Amino acid sequence: MTSVVERLRGPRPVFSVEFFPPRDAADEQRLWLAIRQLEGCEPAFVSVTYGAGGSSRDRTIRTTGRVVQETSLLPMAHLTAVNHSVAELRNVIGWYAAVGVHNVLAVRGDPPGDPNGEWVRHPKGLTYAEELVTLIRQLGDFCVGVAAFPYGHPRSTDLDADTENLVRKFRAGASFAIAQLFFEAEDFLRLRDRVAARGCDAPLLPGILPLTTVRTLHKTAELAGAPVPPSVASRLDRFADDPKAFRAAGIDVVTELSQRLIDEGVPGVHFYTFNMSKATTEVVARLGLLPARA
Ligand SMILES: Cc1cc2nc3c(=O)[nH]c(=O)nc-3n(C[C@H](O)[C@H](O)[C@H](O)COP(=O)(O)OP(=O)(O)OC[C@H]3O[C@@H](n4cnc5c(N)ncnc54)[C@H](O)[C@@H]3O)c2cc1C
Repeated sequence: MTSVVERLRGPRPVFSVEFFPPRDAADEQRLWLAIRQLEGCEPAFVSVTYGAGGSSRDRTIRTTGRVVQETSLLPMAHLTAVNHSVAELRNVIGWYAAVGVHNVLAVRGDPPGDPNGEWVRHPKGLTYAEELVTLIRQLGDFCVGVAAFPYGHPRSTDLDADTENLVRKFRAGASFAIAQLFFEAEDFLRLRDRVAARGCDAPLLPGILPLTTVRTLHKTAELAGAPVPPSVASRLDRFADDPKAFRAAGIDVVTELSQRLIDEGVPGVHFYTFNMSKATTEVVARLGLLPARA
């Protein structure tokens, strides 16, 4: 079976998409519609995030398993260390292997309820994503990805130390990283430079949010700790009361950002789709990343 990193090391830039596990039956229908619509666009892989509660976690495992069994897509499951003992983590990793999921994004997770609250390690759990990478690699033939932060992780005060911590995850066995969303290419490129300066050439994927509504722009920017720069605000804010014009301008901004990154040689672009496929498909088409027959 091919792995995510093999696809990122291919001859051409690729794209990938990220979904949430569905909350209920209606959500599941919407998600599967989006998955089916994107299937024909041949993304390099699709990932499913891992929530904080037990039922949401079960839905991630189930959804990722269905992607393996019912589609032609390559799935990547997310896994978080938060609120899990090592025994439970081993169990989930075993489940992923059993359903045929061999690509895993290893992240620490945030404290449930308040992402900025105090991080409390499970008494029998792990502290950093680096340890989760080590655990997953010990348990089987997995291709492991990790999270990266162009502006530094919100808990880090020192950008260099934060980059060093990212490089530690590669040394622990991660093969690639996906960056938290950002709005200016330079912010991502500086992160890539900092990683390269430490002698690390693992593929780094930019994470891109299709900007379709005023709410997506401000809410997600706040959640991700990614400031909306004046260059983007000045292009979009004027359409705050005109949803159609805002969407069109947002898609322009995201397409230009993605194109700049492709010109700078990124191996692919990872889209945070929020379980919608239309805006992502539009951007991907404009970037010329669709297969000829799609
Ligand atoms: C692409 C992507 C996907 C995500 N998917 C999910 C998801 O599915 N579910 C979810 O709940 N969350 C998800 N997150 C959010 C993520 O869990 C949080 O941002 C979390 O706060 C950080 O996770 P991490 O894996 O980067 O943690 P870590 O790498 O453990 O880093 C956490 C903090 O500790 C510091 N640090 C790391 N290692 C060390 C060390 N050895 N010594 C000292 N300090 C250290 C880092 O600099 C950072 O400040 C995702 C984030 C991204 C970017």
